[in-house]
Amino acid sequence: MRNFVRLSVLSLLLLSGCGLNFYTDEQLEPLSVQAYQQATAEYPEVTSGAEYEMVQEVTRRIAAAADENFPWQAKLLKADNVPNAFCLPNGRIAIYTGILPLTKNIDGLAAVMGHEVAHATQRHGGKRMTSNQLNGVTMAVIDAGLGSAEMESETRAQLMGAIGVIGQYAVTLPYSRGHETEADIWGIRYAIRAGFNPNEAPKVWERMAELGSSGPEWMSTHPDPLERAKMLRKMIPRIVQEEKGWTPKSAKQAKSSQAGR
Ligand SMILES: [Zn+2]
Repeated sequence: MRNFVRLSVLSLLLLSGCGLNFYTDEQLEPLSVQAYQQATAEYPEVTSGAEYEMVQEVTRRIAAAADENFPWQAKLLKADNVPNAFCLPNGRIAIYTGILPLTKNIDGLAAVMGHEVAHATQRHGGKRMTSNQLNGVTMAVIDAGLGSAEMESETRAQLMGAIGVIGQYAVTLPYSRGHETEADIWGIRYAIRAGFNPNEAPKVWERMAELGSSGPEWMSTHPDPLERAKMLRKMIPRIVQEEKGWTPKSAKQAKSSQAGR
């Protein structure tokens, strides 16, 4: 009886997509490393110049604001016709040069990066792997230590899509509406904490909307940008208030250990 109750609760949780996650950061680490290597090898990496410096600065500041002990890494990929960006589990970020005309300035880049980083900090990859049908297969693959040779290419493409890769190596999977809203809100929090202007975020989504159906591939995996811009405009003042006086976990720990002395 008890098991039955527990199972029912579990299936309810799964059905409602409330965000159950069967995967730990450690389990996803080899998958994240492999997927990042493969997906970012598709285009040449930009390793110097103003745009590169900007990407590195935004990464440093957003990473500090996200306050996770991730092995953060960001690559700027030279792909002017690819308006894309993603962040894989444990903080591996890719920004394609094609998205820079849309982000337009450093605050706009922070908006997009904040959003992508939030998918990683809210563990949306693991949650997506948990809630979709991949589960039995992926668990087995991950338990086996991800021998990519034994993994069927279709499975690998689905896995890569599930953890957030966009591009030829992955099956394109949109995040759920709930995950998108969560990433929008956390993305704004991170931008505010990092000292960026959060009001640039709705402007970025509006610039994307202007492109219409010829818009970036990024748009095909994301909900209506005008709707999101509207929602964010409404929420930003409240989030700014909520984030006033935010301090990182490490600062709080240092403070409490000092107080304990
Ligand atoms: Zn998203």
